[in-house]
Amino acid sequence: MKKFLRKHFVKIIIACILLAIVVSIPFIFKQSNESLSYNNYTLSLTYNDNLKTIEGEEEVCYFNNSNNAFSSLYFHLYPNAFAEGTTSKVVSNNNFDKAFPNGASYGKIEILQVTDQFDSPLEFSVGGEDNNILEVVLPEILYPDESINIKISFVSSLPNANHRYGYGENTINIANFYPIACVYQDGEGFFTQPYHSNGDPFYSDVANYNVNLTAPSTFVVASSGEQISKVENDGETSYNICGEKIRDFCIVLSQKFEIFSTTVDGITINYFGYQGDKDMQEDVDFAGECVKTYNSLFGKYPYSVLNVVKANFVHGGMEYPNIVLISDSVSAKDYKYVIAHEIAHQWWYGVVGTNQYQHAWIDEGLAEYSTYLFFEEHDEYGLSYNNMISNALSNYKFFVQVYENVNGTVDTSMDRALDQFATEPEYVQLTYTKGVLLFDNLREMLGKDKFLKALKELYQDYAYQNISPAELIASLSSSSNRNLEKVIKSWIDGEVVIA
Ligand SMILES: [Zn+2]
Repeated sequence: MKKFLRKHFVKIIIACILLAIVVSIPFIFKQSNESLSYNNYTLSLTYNDNLKTIEGEEEVCYFNNSNNAFSSLYFHLYPNAFAEGTTSKVVSNNNFDKAFPNGASYGKIEILQVTDQFDSPLEFSVGGEDNNILEVVLPEILYPDESINIKISFVSSLPNANHRYGYGENTINIANFYPIACVYQDGEGFFTQPYHSNGDPFYSDVANYNVNLTAPSTFVVASSGEQISKVENDGETSYNICGEKIRDFCIVLSQKFEIFSTTVDGITINYFGYQGDKDMQEDVDFAGECVKTYNSLFGKYPYSVLNVVKANFVHGGMEYPNIVLISDSVSAKDYKYVIAHEIAHQWWYGVVGTNQYQHAWIDEGLAEYSTYLFFEEHDEYGLSYNNMISNALSNYKFFVQVYENVNGTVDTSMDRALDQFATEPEYVQLTYTKGVLLFDNLREMLGKDKFLKALKELYQDYAYQNISPAELIASLSSSSNRNLEKVIKSWIDGEVVIA
């Protein structure tokens, strides 16, 4: 009896251990699957070329990752910045003719309906400056760690503009076109700032995207995410495109595109140029070199595809996840430089995010500094690191001198919201140029190896998150084993006088 019991006792214990392992497996997977807490966007889009509209059905699965309970959710409606009579401008006055070569043109987004997942209507309103925000009243309070599914029907109409959102002679740029959830910041609430002509006035959380796009078959499609399938029917092509852990979704269409591709470190790089362009092989190879260099400097680009796309665009270039726009108005001399800068944003903006409206110096400073590092690694392009730094220094000093002469004083603080820079040159000098000088100064202090190691750790530790200035300072301090708070703060507060 005793023996029998002991034998069975052992069996029972083994069975219990096995049961415990089996039961805990889903939890082990659940905990390691970070994507469970990301928002999911399912977008069904139809592009109408006659009307220049995108009709969309959006289903958002929104996760409350905060410590607060929400009675409403808020979404940016960026296309309304392009409507007639807005307070905020989409370009500065001196760029107006370049952005609108055929005269003023307007765009907008109309919200047709908002429902819950069972198609029951939800109360919503469009408001804020220039109708830039959609508020959706939730049917019940959304507590921390809970999620809700919301369906939004919308129509976005594009202006005739060489902009992120607009159609031009060569490309149709469809970015910031759908309602995207406002970021909730603990203690500060939802971030609902309107558009601004300076910089990239965007801020979003990483999410998963499943997009179905239908467009006339005459167009070639470049976009964020990875193309999963493509079906042609009666002159129209439907694409299924998926993107995991990306913070926005951008589409560029053109009837003039020709694609050159290469593979680097297992990543497919596609270059979309205009048919007949001469340097497409060279441009795709260059883009590949950028990816390879940044992979080894900062850590690997975590997606399978990167699309580098020539487009009609008022500024030099623009970054979105898995896709960068390079303006067709950039000179041949500067073209590679712009490619290197925009690709660097895949690391600084795409993977490690920031509030680009509030702290533009972080992603612009790091992307511009990364461009310097690229050219330092590749002396075959003839741009030496030291020359680039001394040029940045003289540009910056010239800017300070001119502003002092004209205004009697100059504000050299960097950590300002986009609407707090008086002019576009002031924004550029204090985010890009002074950003580069700040990071070069840190490298001088720490030594190149230690500084690059700190950037690598920053990339690893803050992947798929949004980083604040305080977190940036803490991360660089801890990985370099040196308290950098005073130094970095004196740069961003404008106390350091650069002589
Ligand atoms: Zn940039």
